[in-house]
Amino acid sequence: MIHAQSRIRPLLLALAFLLLAATPTLAFESEADDPVRVLFLSKSSGFQHSAIKRTDGHPSHVDTVLAQVAAERGFEITSTKDAGLINATQLANFDVVIFYTTGDLTQRGGTGEGFFRGDGNPPMSADGVSDLIAWIEAGGGFVGFHPATDTFHGEADEITPYIGMIGGEFTHHGAQFPGIVRVANAHHPTMKSVEDGWKIMDEWYLFKNVAEGKLHVLALMDPGEEQAKQEVYDIAPYPIAWCRELGAGRVLYNAMGHREDVWDHEMFQAWVGDTIEWAAGQGEAAAAPNWGDVVP
Ligand SMILES: [Zn+2]
Repeated sequence: MIHAQSRIRPLLLALAFLLLAATPTLAFESEADDPVRVLFLSKSSGFQHSAIKRTDGHPSHVDTVLAQVAAERGFEITSTKDAGLINATQLANFDVVIFYTTGDLTQRGGTGEGFFRGDGNPPMSADGVSDLIAWIEAGGGFVGFHPATDTFHGEADEITPYIGMIGGEFTHHGAQFPGIVRVANAHHPTMKSVEDGWKIMDEWYLFKNVAEGKLHVLALMDPGEEQAKQEVYDIAPYPIAWCRELGAGRVLYNAMGHREDVWDHEMFQAWVGDTIEWAAGQGEAAAAPNWGDVVP
């Protein structure tokens, strides 16, 4: 017995060593091979943007562009207007969640008159926001585009948990105009395709309740000549894209994307693809607060 054991032990040690040595390689390969799983929610409980409107069962403009970006990058994407999917059980199936949403998503909407009546698609449960934030804190990636900050507003000065998470709250906008995108951190993994000084027509949101001390600003919008044309934009360049870490997860907001032709732009599509990869945990987070250094 003693002799047998002494022969087996070195073999076991050798085997354990081989497994340990092989483990990092195996983990790396499986990480690279697993596609990023993305859930795209475009429910409107308030104003419904044309870019995410589905007509006669056809995918929306943004559905189509995101499907194209996903195909190019090897992501698996699920596009939905069912906010009920934002729950702990469903979120466990995804690496990244994208919101292009408006209003209080716990409201179905869809009845009554006017621009802000909502689309009537299934609402989020009362636990949806807390499930979403817990999922991000445990390592999930959240990306908000354009009206994602026009979602879950607070009453008066209240900052809702969702607004606290995304880092800012939409207040108003003026007429559309070609804004100048100023890159705040050209070295950030999400900014490698975005040209500093890119001039592009869009609807430019303005914000309140911005979590200045918690955000890493990625890009500002410089109104340029528009300062002299519209009073609401007679202001210094201000942040329109930012990111942060939240627990083990990552959050990024990009205010652009009202217009269909923004989504069609090659540079925007590259930015979107890089954003999703970053939100999925690829590359450095590089999300240390930098407001004081980059915002005039
Ligand atoms: Zn808009």
